[in-house]
Amino acid sequence: MSLQLYDTYTRSVRVFEPLRPPEVGLYTCGPTVYDYAHIGNLRTYIFEDILRRVLAFDGYTVKHVMNITDVGHLLSDGDMGEDKIERSARLEGKSAWEVATYYTEAFQRDIARLNILEPTIWCQATDHIEEQIETVRCIEEKGYTYRTADGIYFDTSRLDDYGYLARIDLEGLQAGARVRLGEKRNPTDFALWKFSPEDEKRQMEWDSPWGVGFPGWHIECSAMSAKYLGPYFDIHCGGEDHINVHHPNEIAQTEACYGTRLANFWLHGYFLHLDTGRMGKSLGNFITVEDLVEHGYDPLAYRYLCLNAHYRSPLTFNLETLDAASRALDRLRDLVYGWGTPGEVDAAWLARFTDRIHDDLNIPQALALVWDIGKTDLSAATKKATVRAFDEVLGLQLAEWMPAVVPDEVMELVAQREAARDDKDWVKADELRDAIADAGYEVRDTPEGPLVRKRA
Ligand code: AMP
Ligand code: ZN
Repeated sequence: MSLQLYDTYTRSVRVFEPLRPPEVGLYTCGPTVYDYAHIGNLRTYIFEDILRRVLAFDGYTVKHVMNITDVGHLLSDGDMGEDKIERSARLEGKSAWEVATYYTEAFQRDIARLNILEPTIWCQATDHIEEQIETVRCIEEKGYTYRTADGIYFDTSRLDDYGYLARIDLEGLQAGARVRLGEKRNPTDFALWKFSPEDEKRQMEWDSPWGVGFPGWHIECSAMSAKYLGPYFDIHCGGEDHINVHHPNEIAQTEACYGTRLANFWLHGYFLHLDTGRMGKSLGNFITVEDLVEHGYDPLAYRYLCLNAHYRSPLTFNLETLDAASRALDRLRDLVYGWGTPGEVDAAWLARFTDRIHDDLNIPQALALVWDIGKTDLSAATKKATVRAFDEVLGLQLAEWMPAVVPDEVMELVAQREAARDDKDWVKADELRDAIADAGYEVRDTPEGPLVRKRA
């Protein structure tokens, strides 16, 4: 089976063929760097990383571009409210530039800890103000813009198929929103360039042909994707929330300026939820990679948890599933390590794996093969080599895994704890668990006996 992907634009699974083989142009909307990324955001980046690894596994050269939104993303996606970066700067007593740098570096650390490959090109919105102004000018020349008191807006009624990606019911929206339109001509119109407010000094602002201000949130992606990948490229990704506003606006801008469709495929990752509902930076209920590490989890356990759900199904996070993922990853690492030196890859198993990843990235089923191959009577060397080949896509770092050498005094505590458990002296067993933790190790009870490892 050749690679098939679900394309949100056509709402169908299509065979993927690169526009300019062997290169594949991939653009993934990056973080808005006003706060740490939460593990929900990172679920989307893990899905995109899997896509990228599958493309590389198929032998393509992936040119992966990710933007960093460090200006223009306002509190409301409807072009109103304070700029998120400027707001964090005010609240944290830092400059907007310091905030952006700090959270960009935090994001880069987080993705490294989840073994997410770095994009080929990082691009920051504030480094591409010229390109964004040029794109707005281009859209203006084609006659798609109008000016209001607070900025230059895109007139979405000028495009026949505005909002096709989202299947937006434009007439219904128009009828429902008349009262809230303000100076906007249509409810779906959006800012391309915003003027700096007169009563508020912004830190990030630039001269432009229309007046001092800053770019709207959407224009950066059209401008930077065109610069690095051309106006029409292979695959554009983001989280499912981008289907309704951000991506239709990117498409509108690129169509207006270049007359092309922007991307051949549109892929969207579904959200991570908490038992209590949606996780959101602005909702203040978010969990970070750092939180996981502080609680003793290996970040790759979270990656494993994500791999267990298809990217187009919602995923609910809780500590029970994280614990289960953590145990499964530990067992897997021990299993693969125990297989010794790798030999030859088994072609039939690799073909089975390839079919599953080609089936719109069916990673849960591909991951199941890792366990299935373990149960076969193939040689340990073959199993190891084959699972290592799978791991090029899964990214669980199975090849690098080395069990920690546990010092004798810690093993002695573990043995004492086992004895206490046999005597059903749970208080003592817990004390010994704490003593093991103080020594920097943790013990997990498995059906095969206690498993001891260094704390993450
Ligand atoms: P932001 O930093 O808010 O621009 O979002 C970065 C990425 O995370 C975008 O692709 C969003 O669609 C995605 N995203 C936001 N919240 C979630 C969530 N709860 N689960 C999965 N992806 C999310
Ligand atoms: Zn974008």
